[in-house]
Amino acid sequence: MKIIEKEAKSIYTKTKIPGLDYTINQYVGCGHRCVYCYAKFINKWKNYGEWGSWVEVKSNAPILARKNVKGNVSMSSVSDPYQPLEGELFLTRDVLENMDRDINLSILTKSDLITRDIDILKQFKNLEAGLTVNGFSDDVRKILEPGAPPHEARISTLKLLKDEGISTYCFISPVIPLLTKVKKVVMDTKGLVNNYIVEFINFSLAGEKFKKILRKDFPETYRIVQDKKMMWNYIDTISSYLTRNKIPVSAFITHMKKRNGK
Ligand code: SF4
Repeated sequence: MKIIEKEAKSIYTKTKIPGLDYTINQYVGCGHRCVYCYAKFINKWKNYGEWGSWVEVKSNAPILARKNVKGNVSMSSVSDPYQPLEGELFLTRDVLENMDRDINLSILTKSDLITRDIDILKQFKNLEAGLTVNGFSDDVRKILEPGAPPHEARISTLKLLKDEGISTYCFISPVIPLLTKVKKVVMDTKGLVNNYIVEFINFSLAGEKFKKILRKDFPETYRIVQDKKMMWNYIDTISSYLTRNKIPVSAFITHMKKRNGK
């Protein structure tokens, strides 16, 4: 892993993402190395090598985090704040320690490392912690998310956060036909989260490497995601299941333009 230390000018970035005012990225790049990662578009501006092989570390982030911002802040958008490197650097922890406790903060991660910072998370008045959970089997995870913790670790993380009184949500993403186990995720997280965000795979942002892997290792999945009608049928199946079971879904993102090719 190539580590690049940088001094940033600002750590809070204004965003047009609905419901959010700022994103905060103390890291750029991510050791979880998800092959479908949408954040790898950033490689256009960073000449460090393949996505997942480098992490830019904003070493002055803790000082910049002291700025008093109003509105909803999301951590993070082009990295995971609890990626493996955080276990050594404690940069996310330092950033949290320096942040205003009145800030509305939403943290999203795939890692159980977040539980290390429960003592600080509990000090925030308006904080929610989300875990990305997709129920991949270990074989699938090792291909698609080789650096990220397994399903079971993410579930036990949600349980611990919930037990500590921290507001939690589950981000079921990316939903990939036949690989993402939506029902298993819902059953395993029952009573552990306040709500769910469901996001289907964005095939065009996921990139060529991801497409190649699907074509080679998961041809049936590839057939479905390539076929609009089949993909809509799959989306409808998931939607019906969630509605039928009264699952509290705050956002359902399909990344599909229009139905029936219109
Ligand atoms: S954890 Fe998130 S930011 Fe990191 S590689 Fe995976 S999708 Fe990208």
